[in-house]
Amino acid sequence: MIKKLLIANRGEIALRILRACREMGIKTVAVHSTADRDLKHVRLADESVCIGPPSSMESYLNIPAIISAAEVTNADAIHPGYGFLSENADFAERVESSGFIFVGPRADTIRIMGDKIEAKIAMHKSGVPCVPGSDGPIPDDPDKCMSMAEEIGYPIIIKATGGGGGRGMRVVYDPSDLLESIVLTKTEAGQAFNNDVVFMEKFLEKPRHVEFQVLADTHGNAIHLCERDCSMQRRNQKVVEEAPAPGVSEAQRNKIGTAVANACRDIGYRGAGTFEFLYENNEFYFIEMNTRLQVEHPVTEQITGVDLVKQQLLIASGKELKIKQEDIKPNGHAIECRINAEDPETFMPSPGKVERFHVPGGLGVRIDSHIYGGYSVPPYYDSMIGKLIVHAEDRAGAIKRMDGALSEMVIEGIKTNISLQRRIMEDTAFIAGGAGIDYLEKKLGL
Ligand code: ADP
Repeated sequence: MIKKLLIANRGEIALRILRACREMGIKTVAVHSTADRDLKHVRLADESVCIGPPSSMESYLNIPAIISAAEVTNADAIHPGYGFLSENADFAERVESSGFIFVGPRADTIRIMGDKIEAKIAMHKSGVPCVPGSDGPIPDDPDKCMSMAEEIGYPIIIKATGGGGGRGMRVVYDPSDLLESIVLTKTEAGQAFNNDVVFMEKFLEKPRHVEFQVLADTHGNAIHLCERDCSMQRRNQKVVEEAPAPGVSEAQRNKIGTAVANACRDIGYRGAGTFEFLYENNEFYFIEMNTRLQVEHPVTEQITGVDLVKQQLLIASGKELKIKQEDIKPNGHAIECRINAEDPETFMPSPGKVERFHVPGGLGVRIDSHIYGGYSVPPYYDSMIGKLIVHAEDRAGAIKRMDGALSEMVIEGIKTNISLQRRIMEDTAFIAGGAGIDYLEKKLGL
């Protein structure tokens, strides 16, 4: 079993990982930038190492500094959290070649799933439904491109196989724009991702974002832990997440869940992962796999009762999954609201000192946050300062509980998006359930 874990991340997720370690008797090493000495998990960790200046490039993305910190503290494993180096195959490789356990999949799995074309090919093989498309790079021959797009049907989307973070994509509505769009996307992709391979697929106009959580061990066992709906988004950033997804039937859940668990076995997946789908007219279309823990993992924990971080640590230690597929029965409904330090109207980040912090409570209310009264939110990193999660018997009850919890939450000194989250909880389309990924931006008039 892992004895000492280095947490290669910051903020709420570093604290979340530390809490799991504490319950499992695993010692913790926090690494932090000079701007993050006062982070809650740095204070709570058994040991801490400063790895560089505020800039992420020189600290949380600084692979040699993180490996050295693991060496000097005698850690035996490294958890990357989400963001930063969590989906960096070179990092996973360096961690393992330096003799540490990487809490995540093997480097080659990260590499395959990080390439959207390869990922789709692997999914096809395992029977996971994908968005209809070119099934490989776009051909060089312009006539072939035109007929391929015609066959798929407009609108289509051109995507960079190495793209990420919602970049490297272009929608084409009119055949006369196709060839130019391909050239533009290729050029941008080459510059941004050092890989100019692009492919095309059907552009779905009113999809929802529904994703499946999986766990797979190193003994050939893989299970799914139901789905989450993350359709409330602004600029491809999730704002509210919930589980289960409204309107998804048990039969559909079983069908897609079984397919993704099979895919995990086929690709030799290890650890926790997420299969992201677009969902339209009751059909699922795979778009990509995230080979790490997600921000929104708590809603799955609330409805399944499974501690996903503990499972990651057990799997990384080589243990066999004790949870069987038939043990996973979604119980009630959970919602997560991301709390960001930002202006709720302009979305400008609002770093600074938290003068006052009152947390809500009561049955079914969970807060995953690293902030405290007197803490200064630094300007260098993501503006998310915490997550408010509620669990109730059903969706209507969860929305009411979330609205009440948001109304109790007080954060003074910095601006937050709490008022926006309350507007969402009171929105009739959100309450009805099933709004598409374009809904929130339209509501906000963006
Ligand atoms: P990234 O790795 O950049 O996040 P994704 O493939 O996950 O790229 O796509 C990001 C977002 O772009 C999706 O969540 C969805 O909103 C939109 N998108 C991607 N593919 C399609 C498609 N075929 N039809 C409609 N929207 C799409």
